[in-house]
Amino acid sequence: MSSELLVNVTPQETRVAFIENGMLQEIYLEREATRGILGNIYVGRVARVMPGMQAAFIDLGIERAGFLHVKDLMIALGADVLPAISEVLHQGGKIIVQVVKEPVGTKGARLSGQISLAARNLVYLPDQVVAGVSQRVEDQDEKERLRGILEKLTRDSGAGGGAIARTVAEHATEDELALELNFLSKVWQKSLDIKASSKPPLCIYEELPLCLRVLRDFVGDEVERIRIDSSAAFELAKKFSSEMVPELSNKLELYVGEHPLFDMYSVEDEIERALRRKVPLKSGGYLIIDPTEAMTTIDVNTGAYLGKNNLDDTLYKTNLEAASAIAWQLRLRNIGGIVIVDFIDMLDEEHKRQVVRALERSLARDRVKTFIVDMSPLGLVEVTRKRTRDSLSYAMREDCPVCRGRGRVKSAQTVCYQIFREIVRDFRQYQANKYIILASRDVIEYLLDEEASALADVQDFIERPLRLQVDVDYQREQYEIVLS
Ligand SMILES: [Zn+2]
Repeated sequence: MSSELLVNVTPQETRVAFIENGMLQEIYLEREATRGILGNIYVGRVARVMPGMQAAFIDLGIERAGFLHVKDLMIALGADVLPAISEVLHQGGKIIVQVVKEPVGTKGARLSGQISLAARNLVYLPDQVVAGVSQRVEDQDEKERLRGILEKLTRDSGAGGGAIARTVAEHATEDELALELNFLSKVWQKSLDIKASSKPPLCIYEELPLCLRVLRDFVGDEVERIRIDSSAAFELAKKFSSEMVPELSNKLELYVGEHPLFDMYSVEDEIERALRRKVPLKSGGYLIIDPTEAMTTIDVNTGAYLGKNNLDDTLYKTNLEAASAIAWQLRLRNIGGIVIVDFIDMLDEEHKRQVVRALERSLARDRVKTFIVDMSPLGLVEVTRKRTRDSLSYAMREDCPVCRGRGRVKSAQTVCYQIFREIVRDFRQYQANKYIILASRDVIEYLLDEEASALADVQDFIERPLRLQVDVDYQREQYEIVLS
């Protein structure tokens, strides 16, 4: 399978497209304005100790103080039993912490005193004596080999600390792992030097920007080439690659083509389509994808026309096509959590089994762990996909300001009737002389057109003139009744 990465960099955002066999499979997005602080390491200052909560607020030099619970300090302290927070932290003291959960809304970041630095194969744990291997490495011999290498490297390096091998470390050579461990311990040493020479609060380590992170994360996947369309990012990637992932160096290319990089393989169009609710299928059928907070539902539909002959066969083919389209869409949109698929009902039991098998095969190609949980007697298939980063929709959109994410707005008719009720109510209370209705264009037009006689009735009832006025800034549901 041939694959490549396209890296599109502008000052505002970086986007990475992962292409397999000429088809966009995954999209990564990082915006400068919303770049998170997850993984960052700070020398913080203890702002407040709260013995009752066994926690402390740590000033990081950013907008909100972070939250540190004593249990996230234990390993760093080498403690076996939970100490009292007031014994280990004092207001004004210096402490090294890492962000383990992004701040959300008014809540500050969640912090840990247990530091970890990740590279492609390894996670380096400067404060721990450990040599671990990811559970997803299933081969027992390989697990033992990796554990052995890590034990030796962490013992001999003199840098101290421990390491965990990530899943991609399978079959990595001792030299590769040594190089990485060396790099990470150097990064850590550099952070400690900054700590010693500066005044807290201060950030001493930041997560890699997306254009470098993908190099780290995709190197094991036999990517054939990596095209980058910014010379600054290209130079950065070259330098990073020569230190960290030398096997990628000759795959990096500066893209200087005439057309935008994301016009290649129709990436830009595919992203646009991946934000739509409806996904057309070649057979004439289509999918409807609806994300809600709790789960995502996918409805498989036939096209408008169904031949009279071989109806069951047509449904079967549509479902098969839908199965592979669904796996692709989950990956492309990066939909995580529970997904309920409603295939078209079929009578043939063997066809049902084949459709589920087709879905299973397509899901197996996903780099994120995805599997079928269950198929109900009614033909609903439940899939779970591990939540990783934000879904494409979440990263690129916000709730519609008109309907506030409900997906439907009041009809002009509903708004008109609301206005009539309000005028009558106001009339009973205030007995004003004049009434002006300020509303959106379509509501005013509806009043003059469809509801002209009702409008006349209201005027008769209140025995006052009603003036209508369009306010171009108003959305459908907004209006105002001005009395004078
Ligand atoms: Zn809306």
